[in-house]
Parts: sequence; structure tokens; C-alpha cells
Amino acid sequence: MAGKKNQTALVTGGAGFLGSHLCEYFLGRGFRVIGVDNFITGREANVRHLLKQKNFVFLRRDVSAPFGVKERVHYVFHFASPASPPDYLKYPIETMKVGAFGTYQALNLARDKRSVFILASTSEVYGDPEVSPQAEDYRGSVNPVGPRSVYDEAKRFAEALTAAYRREHRLDTKIARIFNTYGERMRPEDGRVIPNFISQALQGRPLTVYGDGSQTRSYCYVGDLIEGIARLAHSSLRGPVNLGNPDEMSVLELAKMVLKITGAKSALVRRPLPEDDPRRRCPDIRLAKKSLRWAPKVALREGLSRTIDYFRSQALGKKI
Ligand code: NAD
Ligand code: UDP
Repeated sequence: MAGKKNQTALVTGGAGFLGSHLCEYFLGRGFRVIGVDNFITGREANVRHLLKQKNFVFLRRDVSAPFGVKERVHYVFHFASPASPPDYLKYPIETMKVGAFGTYQALNLARDKRSVFILASTSEVYGDPEVSPQAEDYRGSVNPVGPRSVYDEAKRFAEALTAAYRREHRLDTKIARIFNTYGERMRPEDGRVIPNFISQALQGRPLTVYGDGSQTRSYCYVGDLIEGIARLAHSSLRGPVNLGNPDEMSVLELAKMVLKITGAKSALVRRPLPEDDPRRRCPDIRLAKKSLRWAPKVALREGLSRTIDYFRSQALGKKI
């Protein structure tokens, strides 16, 4: 992004999968970047290479509690939250706290600094959708007391709070509804389907297909997603806007693709379908295409190959 030197971006969840890519993206474009993370699901290793850069500051903080920074901040990217279903099921209260109190703290910071505020929301606000593809005006079908609700309802609350700050404080806010994104720096033991399948294939273990594997998802490569987030931050669009790859496929098809690319001979084993697991998910990205001139470029086969190379380069000691 040209002409943005001497500006500061603060990224909550900066040591996570997406947050670390976001930090790297803005550092690479001349920004000063403040990463904030408490490592609940993130890793120091994700930002170790950035710590040497003079424009990068890392703060170990829980953003659900008040956190202050002295300097001017031009952009606040609120990305802190467990995001993998096994993670948010393991940390249900922390997930609700960071979606609620964490968003409140990040919004207060943006209000005090007059920053642009960008919320990492999710396709999960649509719950188990009755329509497909999902457009931004679809209001969703969420079970408010099911196990996934700690994530879904926290994000719905975060969107509502963000909209309230826009109205009440005239804050420049943006809401990105991110669909399943994958790529380098996902933890092998993260529990989401792509890291699971890749780790299992590389270790010659069976790939765990939940249910009959006919449920669908649409997977976006991390580089494409980060480009979409950056375009949103610099646009006049407030959203909510869907960011994802509309190339929809079943979990079974994904498993077969991972086996093909890795060359693994692993079997597929069935495991119970988790409660409230959405049947299908596919973004309608017409708004992002029109308003941000953005569309994903990296095909799943290419993105998976890059991710598999990354996983190969990691020590894969741990079983899932
Ligand atoms: P991640 O678990 O890799 O990263 C989340 C980061 O937030 C971690 O580093 C974690 O330690 C940090 N964090 C959590 N609670 C915190 C707290 N209270 N204080 C400080 N740091 C805290 O997950 P991710 O996939 O990188 O997701 C990042 C964001 O994007 C999340 O808000 C998630 O809801 C959203 N999102 C991701 C996807 C996806 O497919 N990756 C899809 C939709 C939305
Ligand atoms: N899934 C699977 N095997 C796994 C992990 C997940 O079949 O080892 C399925 C899961 O039930 C869901 C889909 O893959 O239907 C995507 O799951 P993920 O946890 O990646 O993300 P979600 O979209 O459910 O948040």
C-alpha cells in the first residue's frame, strides 16, 4: 500500500495464524505494527522472524482486559479469538470473553485513537445456513445455546457492538465475514479439517472424516484473504462483507485431494459428526468483487501444495 509510511497498525491476535500474516503484510508495506496476543491459541514462533524488525512491537496481553498503547494508532485489526472448533470448545468462556470484552476494549482503543477499526467476523454468524451461497443480507440460523454458540454468538455480539460504536461514536468501522481460510502457520494440532488431513496424511495415519463427509466448505488461501482484509481497511466500505473463496466442495472430496497431493496411502475413517456442524458453506462474494475489486486467485490445489510444503518443514511429533 503506497504512501502509508509512518502509520501504525495494531493487530490483536497478532501471534495467531491470520494475525501473524497480517502483521507481516503491513510491516512489508512500511507500517509500524503492534502485535498483541496472549498465546492462548497462538505461537511465539509465528512472529519470531518479525521481532528483529525495528518497526515491529509485540505485547503479550489478554485483550479482554483493558490494554493501552501510548502512540497514535491508525488501524486496529481485531483478530484475537480462538477460531478452530476444538479450540473454542476447549476455551468456551475465554472465547465469549474475547468476542465481547475483547471487542469492547479494542473498540475503545480505536475510539480514543480515532483509528479505523476492522473486525474479523466469520461465516459462522450464518450458523447452519438455510440458503446457499450466503450473501451478507442473510441473517443466519444459529443455535444460541449449542456448543458452537460460544463462538457464533460472540461474533454476532461483536458485529452488533461494532455497529453501535459506528453509530454512537462515528467510528470508521469495517466488518469482514471471513470464510474458512487455510495456509502456512496453521498449527498441525489446530483441529480444523485442513491441518488435520495434512498431518494425518504426512504421518501415514487414517484421515478422520466426520459424518458421511458430504457436508461442504469453501476454502480460501491465506494470501488471498489478507489481500482482501487490506483492501477493506483502505476502502470506504463498512461491510459486513464476505471474504472467502466460493469454490465449494465436500469434506470427502477434500480428503481425496489431500491424499492425491501428498501421495499418501492413508485410509479414510468415519468419526461422529460434531453437534450443529453446518451442512454447507459457500460465500457470495459479489459485494467484495464490486466494492473492493477483490477475488481470490489461488486455487485450492496450489494453496494446499504450499500448505503441505509448510507442514513437511515442521516437526510433526504430535498426534491429533
Ligand atoms: P488463531 O487461533 O490461529 O489465532 C487467534 C489468535 O488470537 C491466537 O494467537 C490467540 O492466542 C489470540 N487470542 C485469543 N484470545 C486472546 C485474548 N483474549 N487476548 C489476546 N490474544 C488472544 O485463529 P485464526 O484462524 O488466525 O483466526 C483469527 C481471527 O480470524 C479470529 O478472530 C477468527 O474468529 C477469525 N476467523 C478466522 C477464520 C479462519 O478460517 N482462519 C474464519 C473466520 C474468522
Ligand atoms: N472435519 C472432518 N474431519 C476433521 C476435522 C473436521 O471431517 O478431522 C469436518 C467438520 O466436521 C466440518 C468441516 O470438516 O464439517 C470443516 O471443519 P473445520 O473444523 O475446519 O471448520 P468449521 O467450518 O466447521 O468451523
